[in-house]
Amino acid sequence: MLRNDKLDQWDRENFFHPSTHLAQHARGESPTRVIRTAAGSHIEDRDGNRFLDAFAGLYCVNVGYGRQEIADAIADQARELAYYHAYMGHGTEASITLAKMVLERAPANMSKVYFGLSGSDANETNVKLIWYYNNILGRPEKKKIISRWRGYHGSGLVTGSLTGLDYFHKKFDLPLAQVLHTTAPFYYRRADRAQSEADYVASCVADLEALIAREGADTIAAFIGEPVLGTGGIVPPPEGYWQAIQGVLRKHDILLVVDEVVTGFGRLGTMFGSDHYGLEADFITIAKGLTSAYAPLSGSIVSDRVWKVLERGTDENGPLGHGWTYSAHPIGAAAGVANLKLLDDLKLIENVQSVGSYLRQSLAEALGDHPHVGEVRGEGMLAAVELIKDKEKQIYFDPADKAVARVSAAMMDQHKVIARAMPQSDILGFAPPFCLTREEADTVVAATQKAVKSVLG
Ligand code: PLP
Repeated sequence: MLRNDKLDQWDRENFFHPSTHLAQHARGESPTRVIRTAAGSHIEDRDGNRFLDAFAGLYCVNVGYGRQEIADAIADQARELAYYHAYMGHGTEASITLAKMVLERAPANMSKVYFGLSGSDANETNVKLIWYYNNILGRPEKKKIISRWRGYHGSGLVTGSLTGLDYFHKKFDLPLAQVLHTTAPFYYRRADRAQSEADYVASCVADLEALIAREGADTIAAFIGEPVLGTGGIVPPPEGYWQAIQGVLRKHDILLVVDEVVTGFGRLGTMFGSDHYGLEADFITIAKGLTSAYAPLSGSIVSDRVWKVLERGTDENGPLGHGWTYSAHPIGAAAGVANLKLLDDLKLIENVQSVGSYLRQSLAEALGDHPHVGEVRGEGMLAAVELIKDKEKQIYFDPADKAVARVSAAMMDQHKVIARAMPQSDILGFAPPFCLTREEADTVVAATQKAVKSVLG
């Protein structure tokens, strides 16, 4: 293939990248990485460097790269019918089939799925529907949404507000007033080192109860959370957390939105994180794993109890005033159908269970005793290595040290393995494609061990 030597320059002059230091990039101080091709768990850049992608893009290429079956489904759909809308009862074979496949896999109390394009817009839809729901029920004051610090739910106006990371708020006038944040369930980072896990859960519950009491339960519509905190640090909840939180929500008639953008379709070794933790959701947000990112598609799955109120709403008020041009886009839907079929045919969730636990165990064995590794944790094919300056005294690195950024850079540059420096705190994240082999897991662990040693000693 002919090489375009101007790409670096074109990139700096024209391309506004998301989540990027714009000034440094425009000045050419950070490299433009042009990714050219990919297969299985590996990506390759245009200079021929091959990397083992232990974060599956942005934890989304779940079935792995280069799947012919999905590429064919997309091409066939584009040739047959590239687009038709889904307004006023229209559909395509792909979108209707995918809706059925999603509901067959979702928890039993779920009723219908609305398709969007991104995790952010799906959560935006959820918030709108929650407000609509309470208006139909004659509770116009019950509108606030509780999220958790360190939660990640998108980067729009409402969804960026739900996200509980300062980096997504600073200078954007977020969070908006209707959004409240409660304690992140992060046992390792608890303030009181002597606190038991059970006492810690009780303190998370007490914080939530206090917030509800302060605001008034009649002003709070919903609580949103990821089964396992993702972008906020890959933190599985402490034992008993979700059961206790659900008890509080039921008591105060607060809806539960389970954001399964990362955990949906197998990442925890079960179809949904809701299955894993016994969550009974009113809304489930899906995106990434729905198509394994072969095409943009997301969804808001609504429960029977929500659906009944939405039906009542349209009987009383006429058609629902909500939708995007690209809702249920046929190309995304065709990718979704082929992707979910592949997930079953290749038994990839079984691989998550076996290779995921092997990866986590191997990371723990290789790094758990390192003086600058505070904790190795995870669930399914999701793992994190938390770096710390002083393990005994629980002193974290100064952000200016850029500890995790240096480790992930060393992994990539020296060992050709991609792990993600998570955006808050010194946490190295792993979320490989589900097709990861044990040999590839060994490569990831060896690269992490060497990079931690070379950067932190
Ligand atoms: N929800 C969760 C749990 C996510 O991890 C993400 C993205 O990483 C989103 C929502 C937002 O999805 P998107 O980036 O597709 O808007």
